[in-house]
Amino acid sequence: LKINIAIDGPAGAGKSTIARMVAKELSYIYVDTGSMYRAVTWYMLKHNISPEFSDLVLQHAQKMVIQLIPGADGQKVLVDGQDVSPFIRSQEVNGMVSFYAQIEGLRKHLVALQQEMAARKGVVMDGRDIGTTVLPDAELKIFMTASVKERALRRFKELSDAQGLTLEQLEKDIAERDRLDEGREVSPLRCADDAIVLDTTHMDIPQVVETIVSYCRT
Ligand code: C5P
Repeated sequence: LKINIAIDGPAGAGKSTIARMVAKELSYIYVDTGSMYRAVTWYMLKHNISPEFSDLVLQHAQKMVIQLIPGADGQKVLVDGQDVSPFIRSQEVNGMVSFYAQIEGLRKHLVALQQEMAARKGVVMDGRDIGTTVLPDAELKIFMTASVKERALRRFKELSDAQGLTLEQLEKDIAERDRLDEGREVSPLRCADDAIVLDTTHMDIPQVVETIVSYCRT
């Protein structure tokens, strides 16, 4: 019997790496909801649509076709058939995504798409509001955290070319994104009451994966 697994937590906690591996282990589908907010942000920046024009953002977002395609080296994101995966993790998108993600109508639209993706169960979904808003009935909810320092360090190691970034700058960026994501009135980053809190500061990747998979088997 398949279940749905919600994985929430702040930027850089390792949610996507872990969620992808858990999905693989269980032969489930992995859905990275952050990539959807990123794809929308990439599109809006490209078309010079500022987040202040929330109605316009929503109009465009409703017309965009966003597809998540699982692949060997992670998930691909297509916008109107174009693979935008190489562009959605740029510094420009990092810096702006939280502002678009505050648009209530846009959230409603993306949440509905995400709920559709999980309708048939067997999904591991990661984000900020999965356990609270997208899949409040998920059978397993994990809230993953790690210290800001550790999260910055993980991001730093993950960057193939550091885009000229220092560890200090990454730490500042992550703290700032936490502040924006937590401070928001619409669907803030929150821990569901029935989520299991997993502080991964001192855990390695296989340990975290193993822990989550073991919850599914009990
Ligand atoms: O998870 P990731 O860091 O890729 O998410 C990028 C941004 O998208 C977050 O900083 C947040 O502003 C937004 N987001 C969101 N709700 C989600 C997933 C991501 O608001 N479920």
